[in-house]
Amino acid sequence: MAPAAVPVSLPASTSTALTNASIKRDLANGAASTKPHLDASKLTYEWNTKPKTVPATDDPVRRLQNSTTDHMITVKWTEANGWETPELKPYGPFQLEPTASCLHYATEAFEGMKAYRGVDGKLRLFRPDLNAKRMNLSSVRIALPSIQPEELEKLIKEFISIDGPKWLKDPNTFIYLRPAIIGSGAQLGVQRPREATLFIIAVLFPPMDKPTGMRLLASTEDMGVRAWHGGHGASKVGANYGPTLQAQGAAGARGFDQVLWLLGPEGRVTEAGASNFFVVWKNKTTGRTQLVTAPLDDRIILDGVTRRSVLELARKHLSHEATEPRAGGEDLEKIEVVEENFTITDLIQAYDEGRLLEAFACGTAFFLAPINGIQYKDKDMEVPMPVTAKDGSKAGKYGGVIKTWLKEIMYGVVDHPWGVVINERGPQ
Ligand SMILES: *Cc1c(COP(=O)(O)O)cnc(C)c1O
Repeated sequence: MAPAAVPVSLPASTSTALTNASIKRDLANGAASTKPHLDASKLTYEWNTKPKTVPATDDPVRRLQNSTTDHMITVKWTEANGWETPELKPYGPFQLEPTASCLHYATEAFEGMKAYRGVDGKLRLFRPDLNAKRMNLSSVRIALPSIQPEELEKLIKEFISIDGPKWLKDPNTFIYLRPAIIGSGAQLGVQRPREATLFIIAVLFPPMDKPTGMRLLASTEDMGVRAWHGGHGASKVGANYGPTLQAQGAAGARGFDQVLWLLGPEGRVTEAGASNFFVVWKNKTTGRTQLVTAPLDDRIILDGVTRRSVLELARKHLSHEATEPRAGGEDLEKIEVVEENFTITDLIQAYDEGRLLEAFACGTAFFLAPINGIQYKDKDMEVPMPVTAKDGSKAGKYGGVIKTWLKEIMYGVVDHPWGVVINERGPQ
């Protein structure tokens, strides 16, 4: 069905009731299944006997985002036998039948997370429990098996405990982790996959935050829609991304960093590329300063781990209800933190009336990226970035301080339950 033909005003409760019920049923069935569950304690080890050399931090090969570490973890699932033995083995290609479900029907779900080498030399993951839970939800959304999140989290930790020591050495650097699941069985019928493969790999990334800020091109009807009511925008499934790449490429060719995805005739502001989008503005009726982002309840946008963390930190340290002042935030005016729909017209009006104070996009890949400009049709808005950090990077006042707090947690400048320390083993 063409996304544009779906009435966007349909209440989520009716447009997605069946899907939501199916997700709940599949999660319950997965939990109650008498077939073997995913069991990280069964992991087997086959060490890579031809380990690779690690490219230097400034090696341009990292920009290709295809340099992987020495190992990967794979686990097969079948409808008949449930989860099989997880295997850690040398990184290498898969063998797939050309009739494999994922190659035809986008039966693929994934996660994106980073492992961080702290200033204290320790290796950390950032809230890996949230990634594991989300992967379970994404998997059942496309009729792949439910994945016991605690076991997936253990596998991710074990994997980076093996490849982390060699591949992530320098303090203040990160490596990208990609857990994913595919319908891997030979099965050309359009039906629920009877076989799946879960895998975890690590990929070297260049630093991706843009210190000068990002420029966004707000989507117009000719660029399509990223997500719609009753669709799958709230799931991290491959099917959400392929169809956006043309628009992303076209925006890139015109000098923009990301597409700001709008939805419906009213132009609801949803997400920036594959990251969540925030604005700080003065509310048009109350004049109060607000940090605003689109809500989760109609399942259009992705429940980003970074988004959630930004909201939690802002509520705790910057809002009128803030319980704990935190260094860096004391001098900022208190704000209201709201998850609410707003449109491109609201954004333009705020800009024209001088009420738009800052904007940023956030997600694991781009971290927290300040926005310096947004274009919608022939309206060009320059978004303020009033703060210059020690390293010369620009930011908004609120985005800047929240970014610093997140960084401190990720890189172990402060001890925080979100920064989960990994006991490193390396291959042995
Ligand atoms: C992955 C992703 C995000 C960011 O989520 P994080 O958990 O913060 O990395 C936001 N939007 C979309 C569409 C995404 O795919």
